[in-house]
Amino acid sequence: MTPIISNVELCKLASGDFVSLQVYKFIGEKRGKKVYIQANLHGSEIVGNAVIHQLIEYLSTLEPNQITGEIWLVPVCNPLGINQRHHVFSTGRFSSYDGKNWNRIFWDYEKECLDLSEFARSQLNKKPEIIRKNYLEKIYLAWQQQLEKINQPSSIPLAEQYRYRLQSLCLDADYVIDIHSSSNQGIDYLFCFQGSEESAKYFLFEYGILMTEYEGEAFDEAFLKPWLALEKELANLGKVIKFDLESWTLELGTGMQINPLSVVKGVKGIKNYLAYKNVLSAKDELQTESIKLVNKNKLISYHAPTGGMIQNRVALGTKVRTGERLYQLLSFNKHQKLPEVINVYAETDGLIFDLSTNQSVNQGEYVLDLLND
Ligand SMILES: [Zn+2]
Repeated sequence: MTPIISNVELCKLASGDFVSLQVYKFIGEKRGKKVYIQANLHGSEIVGNAVIHQLIEYLSTLEPNQITGEIWLVPVCNPLGINQRHHVFSTGRFSSYDGKNWNRIFWDYEKECLDLSEFARSQLNKKPEIIRKNYLEKIYLAWQQQLEKINQPSSIPLAEQYRYRLQSLCLDADYVIDIHSSSNQGIDYLFCFQGSEESAKYFLFEYGILMTEYEGEAFDEAFLKPWLALEKELANLGKVIKFDLESWTLELGTGMQINPLSVVKGVKGIKNYLAYKNVLSAKDELQTESIKLVNKNKLISYHAPTGGMIQNRVALGTKVRTGERLYQLLSFNKHQKLPEVINVYAETDGLIFDLSTNQSVNQGEYVLDLLND
């Protein structure tokens, strides 16, 4: 089948050019869930574009009766971030306008929904699918006010206009997948919401971070948090419902690179997850991986004790023991003394989870993450 390809204009530049997105929609024969997959929200995290490309190629080989529901794919979903450079290096993690992280700008309906208890009480004798429909209508009503603000003479800042266009694509989705990578060099893993642990296994990753607190401004959180709030409110009133809505952030390897193994892992995991959710008819047997879900506080960031150059650092994915050397810091001085080589040792056992790409560090700069599991 061929996808429906459509454009979404994001904003007009001073030069008269338009910045826009392109959406690829695969609509199955049978009605069902809506899956929304995007990549490259952070400018240097390009790997997800290759994952989406492979998914487009795969889905194009299917017949419409092999997809139940619809799958929307948005590669290069943040053009302003992606095209940002310092010298030849992609930065694009933070907006150059206000310094904000591009993945901390999103609209969280929970913060606006002041009558949630009242609404929950009004839904107590309704079926889950009706509650879902009614709450979604409420979300859309509030969302409409965002558009009204954009259209007022005073309008709203660029980041808010951007998020309006992007979130409009998936407010009514059932499953959201946002593909990132480390800005530096990382292993492949995912972020998992509490309550989604069972589904996490179907992405076939070895590791995941189990989130415990939600600020609501990250893309995955902004989508799911209002629904979790409603579930909680209903549960307080004695009505226990779990909506079949899920939101995922996948972290696939290294920034500014497309690591082929990370692409394979991402594509395989997403296909398996979609088969598990019956969006794709599972030809092969479904697989699961006993994913190790850990709390974020198990990640220990090491920062340079003094300025210098990192050398002889342990490789990504290595398991280290307490007291083992993690790296050396070649440290120069201006005290008429010879340069020094400083050894830095592991404070705990753990797995090398992420490494800085830049081996030149000022004092206090990030060097590596160790997962103490
Ligand atoms: Zn990211």
